Amino acid sequence: MTDPAPLYKPIGMLGGTFNPIHHGHLRLALELYERLSFAQVHLIPAASPPHREKPTVNAELRFAMVQAAVAGVNGLIADDRELKRQGYSYTIDTLRSLRNDYPQHPLCLILGMDAFIGLPTWHAWESIIELAHLVVVRRPGTLLPMSHRMHDFLVTHQVNNIAEMNNRLAGKILVEEIPALTISATQIRTLIAQQRNPSYLIPAPVFEIIEQYQLYR
Ligand code: ATP
Repeated sequence: MTDPAPLYKPIGMLGGTFNPIHHGHLRLALELYERLSFAQVHLIPAASPPHREKPTVNAELRFAMVQAAVAGVNGLIADDRELKRQGYSYTIDTLRSLRNDYPQHPLCLILGMDAFIGLPTWHAWESIIELAHLVVVRRPGTLLPMSHRMHDFLVTHQVNNIAEMNNRLAGKILVEEIPALTISATQIRTLIAQQRNPSYLIPAPVFEIIEQYQLYR
């Protein structure tokens, strides 16, 4: 039997607090955009993340930093859809909204391995795989302990290459090995609070916004 014709190119989604967005996020998004031939990767700041304390910087400014970071970059999109909703920013609602906008594109939710392992704590997590594929990013040489439940979930849905995802809208898991840049938003906030210079960890236009609004001091 021949494989069904490929659908439209997949769309990647990378959510986060982006407080602030940094080169670790951007390299990850660009690497996957190119490796997996995504139509585009949406960077979506959480207005009100359910899993952590309210971010110190409001969602509009965090979004403005994402916009500044990707301006003029092919394939990376600053997406403010979570800012337009009230209440907690649940990924399942974001995926529903993307599905509505892109009915014919496979959707790929990009997750670190640690987030994947914690997926059962997410709202309506079992429905996520019905709406999207998961691209789980693993740092080379790392092995994180996983519950039997998540191991079974992974084995049930795992594919070995993007081609096996391109023929369907959702439902598969691809594990991609990507070396992470050891940059975190926490590190950047700490540097700025200590009046040190975060240049080369974040894009210059992001630093301009931080200076303009005196963020993280
Ligand atoms: P914080 O230090 O405030 O916890 P963070 O730098 O981890 O923030 P988030 O906004 O929480 O940034 O991250 C959004 C997504 O980007 C998460 O899936 C996270 O795993 C991933 N990510 C964060 N930093 C990196 C990095 N250096 N390389 C690759 N992925 C990263």
